[in-house]
Amino acid sequence: MTPLRDALLARIAGDEAALVGLLGDLVRAASPNPPGDTRAAAAVLTDWLSRHDVPFRVVGPDPLMPNILASFEGARPGPHLVLNGHIDTFPTVGAHRWTQDPLGGAVVDGRLYGTGSSDMKQGTASMVALFCWLYGMRDRLAGRLTLTAVSDEETFGPNGARYLVEHHAEEVLGDCLLNAEPGAPTTVRFAEKSPLWLGIDVQTMGCHGAYTHKSPSATKIAATIIEELAALEETDVPLPPAVAEAIAAGAAEIDRVHLAGAARTMGAVTLNIGTWQGGVLVNMLPGHCAIEADIRIPWGIDPDAIVERARGIVSRHEGATLRVLSKQSPRWSDPAHPMVGHIQRNAEAVAGWSVRPIPSLAGTDSRLWRERGVPAFTYGTTATNVAMPDENTDVAEWMKVVRIHALSALDYLTKETDR
Ligand SMILES: [Zn+2]
Repeated sequence: MTPLRDALLARIAGDEAALVGLLGDLVRAASPNPPGDTRAAAAVLTDWLSRHDVPFRVVGPDPLMPNILASFEGARPGPHLVLNGHIDTFPTVGAHRWTQDPLGGAVVDGRLYGTGSSDMKQGTASMVALFCWLYGMRDRLAGRLTLTAVSDEETFGPNGARYLVEHHAEEVLGDCLLNAEPGAPTTVRFAEKSPLWLGIDVQTMGCHGAYTHKSPSATKIAATIIEELAALEETDVPLPPAVAEAIAAGAAEIDRVHLAGAARTMGAVTLNIGTWQGGVLVNMLPGHCAIEADIRIPWGIDPDAIVERARGIVSRHEGATLRVLSKQSPRWSDPAHPMVGHIQRNAEAVAGWSVRPIPSLAGTDSRLWRERGVPAFTYGTTATNVAMPDENTDVAEWMKVVRIHALSALDYLTKETDR
């Protein structure tokens, strides 16, 4: 152990109780999105920064959705690390089925309960605390550290991280992003599949339900289109070797964390028909049906090629049209990046965990940095009951993850190899 590591670990040990208090305060400051008003929760974080004499700014286009931005330079040149977490949460789900108050932030049997306690107020609290600890050591660090605690993440809206990377790129892109979304502390996520959302409309004449010879049925055509779209799931995927190797090596862990079948899903194109609207009355033949398809694209596949195949299927059906609602390219960061090594070594040292780099099925704000060519890594606690009753965080596990985050950031800002 170097003196700097010892000093950091001592600082964390001294702040543990306060950090748990910070998370409780954050949970009690509700910030459901929608509507996405995060002012109360952001104030909890800015109070913490102010009490630690850490300078920060609040930026963003919507005063209801503040983004906290802070940055400092180390004593000598070096790489620029950016820390990211979001302040908003999903709305409380099934309030009557919770055994604890969703806005109580109570610790019961070692777990802190509340909406957002797992996704991701604990991770954002870690990032804010970590920024303060390292700010206090800045005269012994290299490079630069930036904190981005953002709003508007749960709906992937424009006012949070997207606003920062578009309007404050110089400050927030950096050389490497560390994002603290929960998942499993035995995995570090270096890639995300990308969503491709398609809207398909079918228009026919429609008529009385007894006269099926008069008009094609829009709902029947839509059903046929859905069956044909299922062929997209059989697409051959030429995964980049580094991604394929990570999925193969991490398959058992991926299936353990995300249930059996997850590793296979990770490397495949998947189709979900998220919405379906058609028909007016049981005895009318529908003249309109609209569906929305959520297609998830793995690495190595061009979303435009999938769009063209979907368009080919849809265009075979009279009256059917296709619109692209949202399209992104799947990105990945190098699983051999130094940050992955720092997390692996520190997880082993702090908790005895063996950490595997794996891709992620769902999206996080990390994708916005990857889109701009910045290596981005997501590491956090076990996601527990996210978007479900009794969402909670295991405090003891969280305290280990806090140390792993902190030591890995310290390594990044002190080790020559990361330049
Ligand atoms: Zn989240």
